[in-house]
Amino acid sequence: MKTIQHWINGSPADGTDTAPVFNPATGAEQARVVLGSAADVDAAVTAAARAFETWSESSLTQRTQVMFAFRQLLVEHEEELGRIISAEHGKTVDDARGEITRGREVVEFACGLGDVLKGSFSDQVSRGIDVHNFRQPLGVVAGITPFNFPAMVPLWMHPMAIATGNTFILKPSERDPSAANFVADLYKQAGLPDGVFNVVHGGKDAVDAILTHPGIEAVSFVGSTPIAKYVHETATSHGKRVQALGGAKNHAVVLPDADLEFAANHITAGAYGSAGERCMAVAVAVAVGDAADRLAGILERKAREVKVGPGDTPGTEMGPLVTKAAQERVENAVGTAATQGATVVVDGRGLKVDGHEEGFFTGPSLLDHVTTDMDAYKEELFGPVLAIVRADSLDQAIDLINANPYGNGTALFTASGEAARRFQRNIHVGMIGINVPVPVPMSYYSFGGWKDSLIGDNPIHGPEGIRFYTRPKVVTTRWPQQAQQVSAGFNFPTSN
Ligand code: NAD
Repeated sequence: MKTIQHWINGSPADGTDTAPVFNPATGAEQARVVLGSAADVDAAVTAAARAFETWSESSLTQRTQVMFAFRQLLVEHEEELGRIISAEHGKTVDDARGEITRGREVVEFACGLGDVLKGSFSDQVSRGIDVHNFRQPLGVVAGITPFNFPAMVPLWMHPMAIATGNTFILKPSERDPSAANFVADLYKQAGLPDGVFNVVHGGKDAVDAILTHPGIEAVSFVGSTPIAKYVHETATSHGKRVQALGGAKNHAVVLPDADLEFAANHITAGAYGSAGERCMAVAVAVAVGDAADRLAGILERKAREVKVGPGDTPGTEMGPLVTKAAQERVENAVGTAATQGATVVVDGRGLKVDGHEEGFFTGPSLLDHVTTDMDAYKEELFGPVLAIVRADSLDQAIDLINANPYGNGTALFTASGEAARRFQRNIHVGMIGINVPVPVPMSYYSFGGWKDSLIGDNPIHGPEGIRFYTRPKVVTTRWPQQAQQVSAGFNFPTSN
């Protein structure tokens, strides 16, 4: 059986312990992945620190040229990488290609680094004195990423870090690790020097070694909220700069004036696409006023139409869940919802896909009359379960969303500009869609939620990403002419 190895200093590197990697569509173990130890992390830090000595001295032109070449390779290998992702994650190949495209956009942003990284200059702030600033890389930085976007989420991080002159260690999810090694090879083909991009596989041991290693300057994390809190606390207490993005429970509000067919279409895709395993998935439809019964009827029809099957079969709209444990957790949650009084309008439990009876499939589930005290509302289910909650007014819907501990994404479906403006100004959520169900910002904006969806205050990519992976210097300069010697004062310097 194939063993997926680390990638350190430009080459595959072995490990001792291994864990299984499954094909979610068949339920079969298809590979083993090495589980990194503290020694493996240390080897990666040593390689990355050595590479930093030269990479941080390379020119902006050289760094962006690597990014241009890397971007082209991502285009050429999109189908291949999409199939690798689909085989380990379960999502459809087209959906995987979508995540590669959105990740590639961050590379494109990094290609324009020359403009974004420009400092500023102030002439003659005092007589004969000018001030300018510029930013420099941090050193060795690390990224710890979740299973649900094995290409895109790491791509939110490493192009930004590498283009700004840092060297990078990726610790991807142990459930779908192959995309990371594929990307490492593309970087090598693009001309990135060895040691600038490294991959250490594994779970908690590898993560803990990263969080506490004195040679790592900054840690970027994306995953569930409890682990985001742990990572933030541990890494900051070890003196590191931290980005820590957590979980989500995203609401889509539907007002009675919305085109309900349009709203239901988009909510269905946002809820069941990638089997609900997206941090921006629509988990709750908040139906306002008399939109509720009509919306519920259309959502039911659309949920029943979703085509479930293996991710590599053309025509499939929704694949399996990532693991058997995830399948069981989601199906138990639907059972608990029924026990707690929700109406199970569409029941996805027990779905069998012909020829793939051992796959980790569950069908789309639609729950109606869900209330905010039910587990189905409170927990992040991270599966194909859409809950309908009813509200009397837009203001009540806003209050409901603001009371939720998460604040990643949200959407409003309406024909009213006034309602849209009130919603976007009053909602306590970081990423908002108006008639857009999954409002993932473009790479030149930053990505990040509020409240428990982002621990600390560092969003990811865009201008915030540049700031995160660099630190500023401000230089105050005087070049006195011999004839104009200025006397030195003992008082604190002020302008004149
Ligand atoms: P996870 O938190 O279980 O794992 C994330 C990473 O942390 C993985 O690399 C994993 O190996 C590591 N990890 C897991 N348990 C650990 C532990 N006890 N100690 C140290 N490290 C540990 O998340 P997941 O299940 O892979 O991904 C799904 C979660 O990620 C969901 O909550 C989803 O909302 C969230 N997510 C958030 C965003 C966002 O942008 N906010 C994006 C994608 C996913």
